[in-house]
Amino acid sequence: MLLSTFYDAQLEIRCPCCGGRALWEEPFAFRSAKKVPEAERARMVRWGGWLVLEKFPSVIRWTPPRHGAGYWYHGMGVVRCWTCYAVVLHCLRWPEDALFQWSVRGVTLYAWDAEHARVLLHYIGATLRDPTLYGEWYRKGLQRLPTGVMKGHARERLAGQIAATLRAHGLPLGPPPRASPAPAK
Ligand SMILES: [Zn+2]
Repeated sequence: MLLSTFYDAQLEIRCPCCGGRALWEEPFAFRSAKKVPEAERARMVRWGGWLVLEKFPSVIRWTPPRHGAGYWYHGMGVVRCWTCYAVVLHCLRWPEDALFQWSVRGVTLYAWDAEHARVLLHYIGATLRDPTLYGEWYRKGLQRLPTGVMKGHARERLAGQIAATLRAHGLPLGPPPRASPAPAK
């Protein structure tokens, strides 16, 4: 995944406090000052032509970079845990922090979140696999899945592992939310 795609992203990770299921999120959202309605500006911080939304002001406040420098992603974000309810600052180590990860035949696969895990499960388990069914966000990743894990027994084991992980967290196995409806016959 390109770092730029993290900016508005939410990732499911292992909680740094308890190891449970937690959400990691970028702490700031950037919007063009021209595009934000007047009523919403009061809760945002002006930074040049941008307005910065502090998503977790009690955890981390916006500090503008020194004059002339841009904002650079450092992996710093906020974790909210569904298990121990911690809300803490955490520097992301991806993919090591990933909650959803599976190893088959020496290959480790990662999912960004439960929806991504469901997309992988659906795709890997399908007889006729079409990587374009789940939207552009997932297409490239599906096309690049190592062929070694997509054959016979390895494929079945991988699908079994993904399903077991989702079940262990009490999450539904499907359907993948972004899958297009089946074409009419
Ligand atoms: Zn926790």
